[in-house]
Amino acid sequence: CAVVGVFGHKEASKLAYFSLHSLQHRGQEAAGISSADDKKLHTIKKRGLVTRVFDEQKLKTLSGSSAIGHTRYSTAGDDSILDAQPVFARYDLGEMAIVHNGNLTNAKEVRDDLIKKGAIFQSYMDTENLIHLIAKSEKEKLIDRIIDAVQRIEGAFSLVFLSRTKMFAMRDRFGFRPLSLGRLQNGGYIVASETCAFDLVGAEFIRDVEPGELLVFSEGREPKSIKIYEPTPKHCIFEYVYFARPDSHVFGQSVYKARKEMGKELARVKPVEADLVIPVPDGGVPAAIGYSQESGIPYEMGIMRNHYIGRTFIEPTQEMRDLKVKMKLSPMVDLIKGKRVIVIDDSIVRGTTSLRIIKMLKEAGASEVHMRISSPPTTDPCFYGVDTPDKENLIAANMSEDAICEFIQADSLAYIDEAALLRSVGAKDGDEKYCTACFTGKYIV
Ligand code: 5GP
Ligand code: SF4
Repeated sequence: CAVVGVFGHKEASKLAYFSLHSLQHRGQEAAGISSADDKKLHTIKKRGLVTRVFDEQKLKTLSGSSAIGHTRYSTAGDDSILDAQPVFARYDLGEMAIVHNGNLTNAKEVRDDLIKKGAIFQSYMDTENLIHLIAKSEKEKLIDRIIDAVQRIEGAFSLVFLSRTKMFAMRDRFGFRPLSLGRLQNGGYIVASETCAFDLVGAEFIRDVEPGELLVFSEGREPKSIKIYEPTPKHCIFEYVYFARPDSHVFGQSVYKARKEMGKELARVKPVEADLVIPVPDGGVPAAIGYSQESGIPYEMGIMRNHYIGRTFIEPTQEMRDLKVKMKLSPMVDLIKGKRVIVIDDSIVRGTTSLRIIKMLKEAGASEVHMRISSPPTTDPCFYGVDTPDKENLIAANMSEDAICEFIQADSLAYIDEAALLRSVGAKDGDEKYCTACFTGKYIV
């Protein structure tokens, strides 16, 4: 998912809208914005892409100088509209809205406990727990209640809260999911999942919200920082591999540069003689450029992508997924015919994409197809906010590399290992600030 928060700007909801548009890749199922004027909170959320959910008229009704927004990609809960965000509630202190990127690992215990105490839930979202925890807290002030609530939850969370007069942003102590702070041109502030949102709205990057830090935004003041937890960084390395946009900087580094490095590492692992390096668009592009530069094998755009289709992984059913791959990617026959090609992709999950692509390239006349993956085999599911399937559906959890190579009908297959991946993102030896659990099974919480 993507989250954004804008504070202290007369067109707050418009800026939230543009930011969400640049963060659309983080979730395409639903989008929503809540704004706050002095009197009340306004919320619009709906299934569909950002550009479909909002228009000029709707944004006008989202009045006020602060706004928070969300694009949804379902990891917890289902995909009904009840599960779209912001989550909005009225409670004894007034009104509140919350957006969340991540996944709470103790959501069920907290929820069961709340239900036992009489809470009624509207959705299956783990985020709804927070509303109840805040409403039930005995503390008087909202800030203290938020502190109470975030101390009860565990797992991955980059959160933005909105009340009528304040905005709060918080990251879990591990900093699994990114969240950055920026300054708007008029002096207001913005927080967003990725810095590409800042570039779009002309905001200046200040710094990342620290793991374990709560930021409080109030009118006429600098954001106030409260350290809820000692930071113990475990940033999601998959943000670099696939999730974040290449023009963003997450966890202090360029995503594009990291991906290119992964491609260079890959070129060193299992070199192979070939005529062309081609990416699976768009995910494989930076790594393919890196591979080509390192190996000296020419880079070509051997596969065209139809951009008028969403990303396949997001759709729930298997049949749909197969159909979507076929509609999405087509080979450049003139380029490929009679050539030995190296195909670069960022990951193999179920293996269906690779199989389909290799078949397609061979049908287009490629004499050899060598598959190269710019991350280690995906062997374990993610419990921290990325929708990897269960172990039984992860091909690398169930088959050896040779068996996968045979299954996808490649002439050869190679991945980079964990150490190379860590090198690509600039991690030093013994540096443990990244989560790599979906590649290693080394879970943190
Ligand atoms: P597969 O067909 O092996 O299940 O899917 C792998 C392909 O899906 C890769 O091309 C990868 O870029 C793409 N993909 C799209 N969304 C995701 C995602 O959320 N996680 C992963 N690992 N791959 C994704
Ligand atoms: Fe990221 Fe993988 Fe860790 Fe999930 S398990 S947070 S996708 S590195």
